Order: sequence, then C-alpha cells, then structure tokens
Amino acid sequence: MINPFLAAVMGTVLHLKRKCPKCKREQVTKPGEKNKAVKCKHCGTRIPPVVNSEQ
Ligand SMILES: [Zn+2]
Repeated sequence: MINPFLAAVMGTVLHLKRKCPKCKREQVTKPGEKNKAVKCKHCGTRIPPVVNSEQ
C-alpha cells in the first residue's frame, strides 16, 4: 500500500529531477528553480525546465 503523502513527496522529487541533454547525467534541481532553466553541475549546459504534461 502506498501512502498518499509519500507518493506526493516522491512525485515532487521526480519532478525536480532533470537529465542533461549533453552529458545525460541526472541531477535534482531546487524546488524554486523547477520552472527555470538551470545549469548542469557537471558540464555547465543549460537545461530547460521540464514541461508539466510530460512524465
Ligand atoms: Zn551536463
């Protein structure tokens, strides 16, 4: 059985995950940056925000 609260937390964490289009590494962004482009901490490439309708 999945706790609805836990499911919500996991969904939030997954939503904050982004995959760099260049080096393909995943990283977690800050909640305040979820609608902004962030820099990949590995290679410095700009990663655009994840579109809500996908995933
Ligand atoms: Zn990268």
